[in-house]
Parts: sequence; C-alpha cells; structure tokens
Amino acid sequence: MIRELHNKLINREITATQLARDYFDAIEKKDSEIGAYLTLTKKLAMEQAEFVDEKIAKGQEIGLLEGIPCAIKDNICIDGVRTTAASEILDNYIAPYDATVIRKLKEQGVVFLGKTNMDQFAMGSSTESSAYKKTKNPVDIERVPGGSSGGSAAAVAGEMAVWSLGTDTGGSIRQPASFCGTVGLKPTYGRVSRSGAIAMASSLDQIGPIANTVEDAAIVLSAIAGEDPLDATSAKSSDKKYEDYLTGDVAGKVIGVPKEYVESLEGEIKNVFEKSLEKFKALGATIETISLPHSEYALAIYYILMTSEVSSNLAKFDGIKFGMRFEDDVDSKTQENGLPKKLLETYLDTRKIGFGDEVKRRIMLGTYALSAGYYDAYYLKAQKVRALIRQDFEKAFEKVDFIFSPTTPEVAFKFGEKTQDPLKMYLSDIYTITANLAGVPAISFPIGAVETDGKNLSVGGQLMGKWFDEEGILNMAHTFEIN
Ligand code: GLN
Repeated sequence: MIRELHNKLINREITATQLARDYFDAIEKKDSEIGAYLTLTKKLAMEQAEFVDEKIAKGQEIGLLEGIPCAIKDNICIDGVRTTAASEILDNYIAPYDATVIRKLKEQGVVFLGKTNMDQFAMGSSTESSAYKKTKNPVDIERVPGGSSGGSAAAVAGEMAVWSLGTDTGGSIRQPASFCGTVGLKPTYGRVSRSGAIAMASSLDQIGPIANTVEDAAIVLSAIAGEDPLDATSAKSSDKKYEDYLTGDVAGKVIGVPKEYVESLEGEIKNVFEKSLEKFKALGATIETISLPHSEYALAIYYILMTSEVSSNLAKFDGIKFGMRFEDDVDSKTQENGLPKKLLETYLDTRKIGFGDEVKRRIMLGTYALSAGYYDAYYLKAQKVRALIRQDFEKAFEKVDFIFSPTTPEVAFKFGEKTQDPLKMYLSDIYTITANLAGVPAISFPIGAVETDGKNLSVGGQLMGKWFDEEGILNMAHTFEIN
C-alpha cells in the first residue's frame, strides 16, 4: 500500500496535500463512531504535505514514506503537540521535544495526521482504560480494538491512516493488530530507540509499526530503527532496508510450535491455526513441536517486573514537573489554618485524581514488590525466572528458526467483558509477553477469520524470531500474506 501510494505521488496522479485531505475527510466521516484519534495535527500535516509537493514539483526525488499519512500513539512525543498517554494527569501536557522516532520520520517527510487513543499509560488490552473515550473495532463496532495501541490499530483498520506507530510492553502492538485484522511488529528490544516514548516498563518497552501489509511494516521499521545516543539500550545497526529482504521464499525454514501455547487452543481458532501450519508446510517450511517450559510463569513474573518498573517510572508524575496539578480543588484549597496546601498533599491529590484505577493498581503492586522485605521474594525471584525464560528461547532457537502460535487465545471481545476482572484482561497477553521478557522480535499478521455474530473476526498469527532477525520474521509473514 505504501509503495502504491508512493508511485501515485511520483507519477503525479495525486498530490501529498490531496492525500492528506482525503485522510482528514475519512477521519471526519468515520472517527466520531470509531474514536481512534485523541488529537488531530492538521496544521502540521498540511505543512508537511505541502513541503513534499514542492519537492515533487521541483523534480526532486522523494523517499518511500515521504508524503504518506500516518498516526502516532499518544504516548510518543511530537514537539509542540499535546501528548496525554490517555491519562488525565497529562491532560494539558504539550511535548517540548520530538521522540527520536518522530525526528527520524520528520527527516523522511512523513505526514502526521494525529495522535491515537490508547489504554491509559499503555496499561490494558482493550483501550477501555483510556481517560477519554472508547475506541471501537472497525471490524465489529460492538467489540474492542484490543490494546493498549487500540487507536493506532483502529486508525489503520478503519482506513483513517495508512500506517501507525504503537508501543509494545507485553503485546500492545500485536494484540490490537490481531484484533483489528492488521499487521503489527514488535522489534527486538534495542532495535528502535525508546527516547521520547512515555516509559511504562523500560526493560520491556519497544516502539513499532501497525500497517496493512507486512511490506509496509518493513518499510516503517527501516525508517525508525537504529542506535541512538539518547537511549543507552538501543543497539548498533547497519541501516538495513528490511523491505529488501522480502524474498517470498521460505523453503527449508524450520518453525517451532510451542506445545505449552497450543495445548489449550480450542474451537475455530484452533482450526485457523492448524490451517496456517498446513500453508507454511505447503510453502516449503517444516513444522516442529517444541517446548518453552517456563512459559507458565511468564504472566506472573511479567506482572511483578512490569509493575515494579511502572511504580518507578510513574513516580515523576507528581503535579510539579509534568502536566496537571490538582492544588485548586475546592475542598482542600487551603488548610484549616488558612495556609496554602502542603507539597505532599499536592502530590497525593494530583496522583489520586490524575491517574486512572488500572494505573493506580499497578503502581501499588509494583511498590509492594519493590519494598524492603518483599524485594527478594518477588522482584529478585522474578528476574531469575526471566533469565530462565530467555534461556528457553536460546535453547529453542538452536533447533528452529522461528516460533509460531496464534497471537491471542481468542478473537476481539465485547466492551465490558473483562473490565470487572483484571486477571481475565491480563490473560489476553498470554502468548505475547514472553517476546518482551526475552527481548526477541515478534510479528502478528492475519492468518484467517472466525465468523461470530455475522462478522468475520480476524485471527492473528504470531511469529517470534531470533534476536535481531526482524528480516526473518518479516519474510515469513510476507510470504504467508502473498500466497
Ligand atoms: N496488555 C498488557 C498490559 O496491560 C501489555 C501492555 C503493553 O504492551 N503496553 O500490560
């Protein structure tokens, strides 16, 4: 799709400004129902598009992403643009700088349509924890788009952006991509700079693309990958063009299917998954059953490590340095003694009112896990199990090239189905969190659909690859997609 639009631009069949206008028209028409966007950046987008049109008019060459309209998750900073992470505590926060990925995309002439809705601070699997609104799944508006990058996935699935950026700490790119019938890529930890993305759990977070096709995801990855002095965990890279590795040939590749993941699969999802294995076989790949024996602990240790990092990362939102300050609420404006509110009360009130329930739940869990007396029993132990999970992957990758499973154990669910029971919500990520814990790259792509209530609800397949083998998983998914 990106390549097609690029060709239209250079053949002057359409201008970048017209393309941007078309997308804003689509947003105007559809987004009051879908609710993918929190903020539109129309002025910025039109300036960016005009610049591209001038280049084309002058006969200058343009890059593949130049003039192509995209959407950005609202926890990634764009200089001068409101950035809320869908939380009231950042309601009035205007980012004073560009995230590294944004700087790179600006250099490549990308057009930013706006910022997308998400679960508050990226905590959730349905986008229902946004402080602002619900985002509906364009495939079936009775259902959630997944989360936390639900707005980014819905914008692409609803044809209100050509592609988008999400963030993924435990599945937040892949699960919504799967629910909305799109492609989502979580790169290897360190492949893409996290500078300027509002941190959730820094040892797990990665930024990545959501797109209509695997090739589009590859093109975006090429644009945002690379070492960055502003993120010490970013890895050296060789300016690869990932789209050049999509050969369409997977013959001889060995795909491992973890028995722990598929044992409990049932019904239609199981059928779709089995058919996808047959398709990979027909394309020349071999399938092997493997074991990732420590998978059963993944969810538990994720909820210890992630919440610990959350409690530390979110300590900075205290009403002083960022965003909103609740010092003026009527009841506690002044103390009984007539003096202004004390600093501690400003902190406490700001955090009490500014953070949503799910965020507070996680800060409390994480603070508990890190506190003296519990640190060894929870945090330290979880770190040790994380090392074992990583070893499971190292061992598996001695035998197989890729690890494959459905992205989620079920298709998109209905609004409210899991909001009363956090644990049920957490289970949505059972297949996706291990990639974050081990740091490996993983892609979700459509492998079929299940008919429910007269709608074709998409089923995603997840391919995990060896560390830094994005080209491998991209080529596998691409080959599946085009056949
Ligand atoms: N749904 C998971 C969670 O709630 C993952 C979130 C994410 O990847 N940002 O933590």
